[in-house]
Amino acid sequence: TYIIAEPCVDLLDRACVEECPVDCIYEGDRMLYIQPDECVDCGACEPVCPVEAIFYEDDVPDEWEPYVNANVDFFDDL
Ligand code: SF4
Repeated sequence: TYIIAEPCVDLLDRACVEECPVDCIYEGDRMLYIQPDECVDCGACEPVCPVEAIFYEDDVPDEWEPYVNANVDFFDDL
C-alpha cells in the first residue's frame, strides 16, 4: 500500500483523490489517509501530490515511519 505522511497535515490538497482509480483515499480531520486493503499500489497518486507526501510503504522516510501505523489506525478506529 501507499502511505500519506506529514506534508499532508493541515494541507489536504486532494489532488491524489482525483487520481485514485479505486477511490481509496479518505479524509481525516487534518490529513488524508489511504485505505490499505483497497489500495491497488498503482502509484498514480504519488506524483500528483504537490508536497510529495505520498510514499510506497517500504519507501517512507524514517522520520515519517509513524505515519504508516497512523494510517492503519485511522481505518481501525472507524
Ligand atoms: Fe489509489 Fe493507486 Fe494511490 Fe493506492 S497507489 S492510493 S490505488 S492512486
